[in-house]
Formats: sequence, C-alpha cells, structure tokens
Amino acid sequence: MSDVAYRAVLEARKTGNKIDRKVADEIASGMKSWAIERGATHYTHLFQPMTGSTAEKHEAFLSLKDGDPMERFKGSALVQQEPDASSFPNGGLRNTFEARGYSAWDPNSPAFILDGTLCIPSVFVSYTGEALDMKVPNLRSIQALNTAATSVAKLFDSGVKSVSINVGLEQEYFLVDEALYNARPDLQLCNRTVIGHTSAKDQQLSDHYFGAIPSRVATFMKDFETEAYKLGIPLQTRHNEVAPNQFECAPVFSEITTAIDQNMLLMIVMGKVAEKHKLKVLFHEKPFQGINGSGKHCNWSMQTDKGVNLLSPGKTPLKNLQFLSFYASVVRAVCLHNHLLMASVCSLNNSYRLGGHEAPPAVMSVFSGSTLSRVFDAILGKGEATEEEAKSNIGVVSSIPEIIPDNTDRNRTSPFAFTGNRFEFRAVGSSANAAGATCVLNSAVAESLKEFRARVDALTAKGEELDNALLTVIREFLKEASPVMFDGNGYSEEWLSEARKRGLTPVTNVPEAFQAFRAPDAVKMFTETGVLTKTEIDARVEVREETYVKKLQIEARVIGDMCLNHVIPAAVNYQDALIKSIQGGKDIFGDEYKTLCKADIETYREIAGYINALSEDTHNLVEARKKANHMADMTERAHAYSTEVMEQMAKVRDSADHLEMLVDDALWPLPKYRELLFF
Ligand code: ADP
Ligand code: MG
Repeated sequence: MSDVAYRAVLEARKTGNKIDRKVADEIASGMKSWAIERGATHYTHLFQPMTGSTAEKHEAFLSLKDGDPMERFKGSALVQQEPDASSFPNGGLRNTFEARGYSAWDPNSPAFILDGTLCIPSVFVSYTGEALDMKVPNLRSIQALNTAATSVAKLFDSGVKSVSINVGLEQEYFLVDEALYNARPDLQLCNRTVIGHTSAKDQQLSDHYFGAIPSRVATFMKDFETEAYKLGIPLQTRHNEVAPNQFECAPVFSEITTAIDQNMLLMIVMGKVAEKHKLKVLFHEKPFQGINGSGKHCNWSMQTDKGVNLLSPGKTPLKNLQFLSFYASVVRAVCLHNHLLMASVCSLNNSYRLGGHEAPPAVMSVFSGSTLSRVFDAILGKGEATEEEAKSNIGVVSSIPEIIPDNTDRNRTSPFAFTGNRFEFRAVGSSANAAGATCVLNSAVAESLKEFRARVDALTAKGEELDNALLTVIREFLKEASPVMFDGNGYSEEWLSEARKRGLTPVTNVPEAFQAFRAPDAVKMFTETGVLTKTEIDARVEVREETYVKKLQIEARVIGDMCLNHVIPAAVNYQDALIKSIQGGKDIFGDEYKTLCKADIETYREIAGYINALSEDTHNLVEARKKANHMADMTERAHAYSTEVMEQMAKVRDSADHLEMLVDDALWPLPKYRELLFF
C-alpha cells in the first residue's frame, strides 16, 4: 500500500474525513492480497445490529470476468455493502420498500481473518442515514465526549488536542457439556434453563470462586486465548467465578471501539473453540435460577492524547483539580441520568439478574470509597469542616495518591464503582453489546463536561480566578450528584428506600425502564450531543421492546413444551410405577396396604396435584400469551409480557420444579442442575 493510502486511513481515523474512492480501491486491493495470502476465500462486512449480536454475510472473492475466474475485491465493496438484511428489527426506520440498509467500513476497527473470511468491521445505516446498529451511536457519543472533554482538559493543559476513552471488559460466562446442553430444549433455544430445581450444593461454600480451574476448562481457556491472541485480543486474566461452572476472562483495556469490537469477536471465538472441546459457552446473564448470574463489567476511563488518565488522582493539587473536575462531571452525569443508565443495561436476560442479591442492584449509585468521600465532604463543607476550612481543604486532595491506589477499598454491591483510576460499570449484562451502555454513559458525561466548561467560563468572565472558578463548579457538581453518592451496601432494603427518598428511580419493570430513553431529559441530552435523533430514540425503544417480547415469547413456548412433553409424561410414568406398587400391596397384604403403602399413596396424590396445577397453568400461560399478542401497541404488549406472561411462567416453573424433586431420578428426562453445573 502506498504512503498516500496509509496516511488516508490514519487521517480518517483521526478526523473522520472520508476516504477517496481511488484510495479505497488501493486499500481494498492491499487487504485482498493480505487476506488471500492467509488463505481467505471470502469477505464480509461484520456489523452489530440493534439486537445486540453480530451479523455477517459472506461474499466470495472469486468472480467471473469474461467467463474466466478471477479474484475481485474493489474499493466500493470495501467501503460499502448492501446486505439487504431486511429481517433485522429496525423500529420502523425502514418501513418503505426503498429504505434499504447499508453497511460501511469503519476504519477505526482493524479488519481480521476468521475461518477463511476477511471480516471488515462495519457500521449499519439506513438509506437516509439513520443508525441501524449499536456502533454508529457509540461512535457519535465518543466524538461528543472527545469534544467536551478536550475543552475541559484545555483548562489545565492548553496543549491537549483530544481525549479518548479506554475500556476494559471483563467477560463472565458459564460452561456446560455439549451433550447435556443438547438434551435441554431450553438451553438450546433460550440459552438459559426455564425450569430446573436448585442443586443441594451449589455456591454456598464459595469453593469454586478463585479455586483451581478444572483441567477440562483450563485446556479450553488456553485454546481460545491462543485464538484470541492471533486476532490481536490481549487476554490477561482468567479465573473461576462464584457460581459452579462459571468463569471469567478479561483483556488488557484498550481504546473503546477496539475494546467493544474485540469483545464481540471474543464471544464468537469462544463459541467456536468450545465446539472443539465438546463444550457450550453460555453468555446468558442468568442461565440458572438461584445461583449467580453473569455480567460484563465495563471498566471506563478518559485519557488525553498526551497519555494522561483524567480519572487518575495525580500528584499535585493542580492536577487533582483536574481529576476532581472530571470526577465531578462523571458523577453528576450518572446522577442526572441514573434511570437512563440503568435502562441502558436492561434486557429480558439481565432482568433475571438485576436486583437480585448477587448482582448489581436495580437502582443506580456511585461508590467512591472512604478516602475520596472524605475529600468530597471537605470540599462541600460537610462534617466537621467549616466553610473556610473547606476552602483551604483543597490541600487534603494532594494526599489522595498515597491512599487511593490501594484497591482494598472495594464495594461489589455498587453498580458503578470507582476503582482507583477508572469507573467500573458493573450492571452491564454478559451477553450484551457494551456499546449500548457506553453510548449512554459517554453522552451523559459529554453533556456534563460541556456544562462544566460553560459554568467555569461564566465565572472567569466575571473576573474569578481559574482555580476558584473550578472549585466552585466542582462543588456545585458534587452537590448535584449527591443523591447518587453511596458507599454502603447496595443490596440492602434500607438503601432501596433511602434511594427512593433521594429521588432515584429503581428499575422495577424492564419495558417500563425502556421508556427512560423517551424522557425529556434524555431526548435533550441525546439530541444536543448529536448522538441520537428523536426518531432514532423511538426506533431503539421499539426494537428493545420487540426483542424483549420475542425472547419472552420463545421462553414461554419452550417452558410450555417442556412441561407437556417432558415433565408431565415423566411424572405420569412415575405415577404408573407407584400405582402398580400400591395395587401390589393391596393384592398381597389386603387392608394392611394402607399403612404399608402410605408414603407411595401420598406421593401419588402430591404428584397428581402438581400435574393438574401444571396443565392448568400451562393452559393459562398460552391464554396470557394470546392476550398479549393481540395488543397492537408494542409498549402495551411488552408490558403484558413482563407482567401476566412472566407471572404465569413462574407458576408453571414452580410445579415443574416440585415434580423434579418427587419423580424417580431414573425417569427424569432432563439433565439436572447437579449434572449441568459440575465437571
Ligand atoms: P477485577 O478485579 O475488577 O475483576 P480484572 O482484572 O478482572 O479486575 O479486570 C479489570 C479490567 O479493567 C481489565 O480489562 C483492565 O485492563 C481494565 N482497566 C485497567 N485500567 C483501566 C483504565 N484506566 N481504563 C479502563 N480500563 C482499565
Ligand atoms: Mg474481574
């Protein structure tokens, strides 16, 4: 590739400038040779639709020219593809027949080869330019944050030219044996068990957490790590998680787009490698009821083009003012958009996990740790410090570096925790595309930083010294953020009622939470930062609702099928055995059978009770679904699913799980938790 072409790519990455068609042809030709040399035969635009997964449509390099085969890949094919992809939910953005979807190369992300296919990371937009994917809004939010953060960073160092975002995604997952997975229709179709009694022993002893990695799993890890390294994904940590058969891996953090692309790619790679080990990876947020679910902790920080981490407490008071400015802007953003941020991580899958006692709570809070909290109290003139002391207390700040890097000050019950030089957004779901959460976070922080700069400018224009102006606005921001600041136990009941008193909105119902995107504050933030238009917001809410409904619909059908085809027949078989035994008792022992077969008779009755309840509840579940399906309005339908359908599913599950405990193990046709969860 020529110098010109190389520079064009770098320039496009830096400024977002378009790449000339001629140059694109040259890059395409370079990419093609590179890929073909490495055995690739096909290429695809890999994009990230709003459903949260990845999508690919492969095209062969090979085509015919005048009847002769030749390998072709032109700039136009690199830059743009029209994958049709009309079946992706688009929230009404592509309702007319000419409203096609286009995927376009995103030069921010490196291309790679997977299974003989050159994968070109792409964005997916409609003919009229609306975002149809997760990537476009995230790229826009990165740009908004870059602009706002650079303008604040310039107050401290006029030489700063840009601010980028660093992200490190910890990935939790479960592993199950492939054969057992294939024997469970719910795992196959929903990636989670919709029925299943808890195992007598699961995570009570915490003996799995950080324990020795089972050798079968260690070989799998080594294998997928090797494949990941080949694709440039620098995995760094691996360990057992809390639940049995639950594990975690994390790469070294990188620039946000790369980190998110690589996480999506990592999930694909892990799935492929697992096949070779006769394993299945479950990325579902809650595959098993009663034990811990999985998250994708999103570690997030901002860094200047000079390499300064803006969330690092720093060494001198002046630098600490910079840290405090950025810290205050983030926590204010989290407070103003607390419900929206929770909504950004909400999904059907995550709803089974959020708000439980082992996962991020359903209400937003920020954990700062005792050292920082004391510093904030001093700045706010709270506690023992007087107004005057508070002013001079800026000196306190210089003591942060000695204490903060000690990460023992950790709170695992906080959905948004400061961990020394970054925030950890812990509520993101394990199967989710993290862009859904970062897009909201970046936009909210961009909005706050813009406001920060405006307020500081207004004060300095009035003749205020810069340091004083900064301190004033930091104090204002910390005050505005105070409702969300909480260092205590995020799982406790007291916190939930305290949070309500502070005006924070907990997520109680997922489809209702989606409406946070439509709230006036959210619309204002998205439109003013240029991240989403009103139409795009509506489309996104609709896609979330639709995805929620469809997934729950599948789960409801699966649970119904499993009860009718597996659970009830197994229970009836066992009743058969019992009745034979009871009849035998009567034939041989006469009236004495009543005492001799007492337990069997009781079990028979108990089973009959559950079978009857189960078939009635399964019938009611079908009716609840039918009723919900008749609702034309998607918001109403999602609401009906989240209430009536879900409640009915819980009833069905209860009977099925009781039957699992009663029926002869030899007759039970489904692998149990005990079998699924222990290698
Ligand atoms: P934990 O102790 O929270 O489980 P891990 O080591 O599993 O921590 O994961 C921490 C993640 O945070 C890693 O991906 C790491 O690279 C990332 N990380 C570290 N520093 C930063 C930073 N400044 N910005 C963003 N991510 C970071
Ligand atoms: Mg970790």
